[in-house]
Amino acid sequence: MEKIISLCKRRGFIFPGSEIYGGLANSWDFGHAGTELFNNISALWWKKFVQERPDMLGIRGPVLMNPKVWEASGHVKNFTDPLVECRVCHARFRADKEKELKEHAKEHKEKDIWTESKLFSLLVKTFLGPVEDQQLMVYLRGELAQTMFTDFKIMLETNRRKLPFGIAQIGKVFRNEVTTGNFIFRSREFHIAELEYFVKPGKEDAVFYSWAEAIEKFLTAELGLKKENLRQYEHPSKDLAHYSKGTIDFQYRFPWGWDELWGLASRTDYDLKNHEQLSGQNLKYKDPESGEEFWPYVVEPSVGLERLMLAVLLDGYTETEARSGKEDAVHEVETVLRLKKSLSPVKVAVLPLSKKENLSKKAQEIYQDLIKDFVCEYDETQSIGKRYRRQDEIGTPYCVTVDFESLEDNAVTVRDRDTMKQDRIKIAELKGYLKEKLA
Ligand code: ATP
Repeated sequence: MEKIISLCKRRGFIFPGSEIYGGLANSWDFGHAGTELFNNISALWWKKFVQERPDMLGIRGPVLMNPKVWEASGHVKNFTDPLVECRVCHARFRADKEKELKEHAKEHKEKDIWTESKLFSLLVKTFLGPVEDQQLMVYLRGELAQTMFTDFKIMLETNRRKLPFGIAQIGKVFRNEVTTGNFIFRSREFHIAELEYFVKPGKEDAVFYSWAEAIEKFLTAELGLKKENLRQYEHPSKDLAHYSKGTIDFQYRFPWGWDELWGLASRTDYDLKNHEQLSGQNLKYKDPESGEEFWPYVVEPSVGLERLMLAVLLDGYTETEARSGKEDAVHEVETVLRLKKSLSPVKVAVLPLSKKENLSKKAQEIYQDLIKDFVCEYDETQSIGKRYRRQDEIGTPYCVTVDFESLEDNAVTVRDRDTMKQDRIKIAELKGYLKEKLA
């Protein structure tokens, strides 16, 4: 984990937020490479779960909603974690995280250090309006699903849908977590990619398992995560959330052990029913053939994008012996981020062999042409070996080297990150070559 955190800072993926003021506990800024990688994961999720699915619709709701939404959803009452406090140092922990409690107790060399467990609300509050004593208390959303429920009827009607169909959203949520940590694994603000899939009651079990298959496929085939680092954990019914009929956690083997990556829940008609009761609006679905009216059941796959990105970084992180030429090697061991090429933050690096003017000019021409189609980086500082290392560390699949021969033969050398194979390619054919390789 330390190696990933250090790589992320060194190469501009992720670093502590507002650091010039000493930072803020567990707040993270994403640099250029981090932003590109995050956007690629987010766009891939959207493509696979919305664009390529005729049964899905997209939506974008606000962070601030009428507080009644959170009453109806049960969050005001039930969106809580059990909290205990250490009597010795007053540190607070989640009472259900046994491993962390044991480790902390060991530090104090005592067992009986915990206060009674209390429920602690995860909803973050804020106040709206210019006049202080008349401000409206609102919650920052703690999950995305509620927009899909409050807008269920309007989405159904404006898009003329029939069951089954789903509504998907990607957006930021806030949770006043008792303990944060493990880098970006658990923060107080993060992005969720979530969808609510509405079905006729009775059909939910088959749909639940078909979404489980879709998630598994996305994690392995699309994100390229190793199968041995993934497993599914089906919750026993006594541990289910207040709205859930069944839950599977897709877990990843993080450096501290197996932990939740993606949740799949069968949410019944709990939310639509409660919103109808509190709002007085009819939120039932009317079957166009039979005329029957009912609240659909809902299946919900929900994943934190930062957490997914951490898994992608951990899974892609590899160390190799110095690869090309000892004289250029920076260290005995070198880092290569073997990301799926489609996810890599930078797709192509253009590297003139030297800073000589005529070489730079040619390399710049190539770079300016390539940036119209790919995220590229231009780099002419330091030795070519060090520049390769830098690109390997951010997972760039292709490095294009412009050398003195290029001025004669109008060709460049393309180096493949994984195979280290070097192909000599005509500049006129370079774009087509890269498009094919990156497809
Ligand atoms: P946990 O048990 O880890 O607190 P949860 O079961 O409360 O998670 P959900 O409400 O199902 O989580 O949230 C959906 C997804 O959002 C999770 O599967 C996870 O990927 C992500 N997630 C949840 N909490 C956090 C957090 N504090 N920081 C980053 N991602 C999170």
